[in-house]
Amino acid sequence: MIVDSPLVRNNICLNAHPVGLDVALHRQIEDVLKRGPIPHGPKTVLVVGCSTGYGLASRITAAFGCQAATLGVSVERAGSSGRVGSPGWYNNRAFDKAARQAGLSTLTIEQNGFSDDTKEQVVAALRQMGRKADLVVYSLVSPIRTDPVDGVEYRLALKAVGDSYSGSTVDMMTGQLGACTMGVATQDEIVGSVKVMGGEDWARWMSHLLKADVLAPGCRALAYSYIGPEFSQPIYRQGTIGHAKAHLEKTGREIDQMLQESGVKGRAWVSVNKALVTRASAMMPGISLYMACLFRVMKDKGLHEGCGEQIERLFREFLYKGGPVPVDGENRIRLDDWELRKDVQDEVNRRLAKITPDNLAELADLAGIRHDFLEAHGFDVVGVDYTADVDPEGNVGRTIR
Ligand code: NAD
Repeated sequence: MIVDSPLVRNNICLNAHPVGLDVALHRQIEDVLKRGPIPHGPKTVLVVGCSTGYGLASRITAAFGCQAATLGVSVERAGSSGRVGSPGWYNNRAFDKAARQAGLSTLTIEQNGFSDDTKEQVVAALRQMGRKADLVVYSLVSPIRTDPVDGVEYRLALKAVGDSYSGSTVDMMTGQLGACTMGVATQDEIVGSVKVMGGEDWARWMSHLLKADVLAPGCRALAYSYIGPEFSQPIYRQGTIGHAKAHLEKTGREIDQMLQESGVKGRAWVSVNKALVTRASAMMPGISLYMACLFRVMKDKGLHEGCGEQIERLFREFLYKGGPVPVDGENRIRLDDWELRKDVQDEVNRRLAKITPDNLAELADLAGIRHDFLEAHGFDVVGVDYTADVDPEGNVGRTIR
């Protein structure tokens, strides 16, 4: 079939391009290889939420930067004749193929990471591989979770807490400025959001793996969070998602204690990462305009990083540098240090304050966020022939013009 263009509604892309994704994934691998090996890196890495964004970058960095065996978990929609699958479905296949070709051990389990069955499958897989994980990365984003304890299905509601919010947003595809409003969450919606995106499932993963004795001595556990600038506090940090992230960070400190006191003498951290365009962040109301300004400013200052560069810095400068891992007062790794630099934020705020439809393209990196959004779905990838036939069932033949 021919998939010549993206199908986008409200910053959500409904289709994907198998060849574009394959080419983009290989470029990420090449970038990691160009940056050279990361000394003292992990040897066996589990990534929950492995197929796109920060999780995929973590897996690629671990495999191709550290020569680690990787086990990935993600939920995907399979491609079938006549219908393309989810981007992660193609990424998982392309990753496994590339890793195997490079002689790296790899296994991807496409199952619901929230379920205890999946956790058991991962334990069984590690035992079968005769390996113990020395790094566990939790990078799962989902709108819905069934709690295995009470059987209740909880939902993430992206809402403000206390007061409603109204601001501006930009459509990633058309570049049009629009209004963005966020209603006030009910108590149930706050609870539901924390149940889905807080730390409960991460803690369940870590105790499960620890009890099953599949964590290596000194094992490290990581999850990702976001804080962001002053202006986005009502939509992010003080909103329902922020309540969930605060819970994730608190849970991170508890997991850290549990691992330190356990036989493996491990450690856990939450890493606060930079705002980037991924499938998850594209859905965050009101963040796209900020990201467009941020990218322009950070690119002009030579500070811009994508998911790959962020994770590379995380591994090289924080986790595997040797010596204590640098953290803030709340045991968090701050990869958002460049984003939140005063000169960066002052310039972003100056631009946000004077943006109009007429000067938007000049003050903000609309082309950059649009490209990243499309590329996350396999579109706008240089060299790909979008008029050529592709196999939606995943036998990716790389059609490069
Ligand atoms: P993403 O949407 O690109 O990735 C989410 C992953 O979770 C995908 O691999 C998806 O398949 C997987 N997933 C979804 N439901 C699942 C389930 N039930 N079981 C297993 N896997 C499932 O998201 P991302 O932006 O890379 O976010 C990853 C983490 O990084 C999140 O914790 C996010 O808050 C954090 N973060 C993101 C940003 C950003 O701007 N994108 C910034 C800072 C921190």
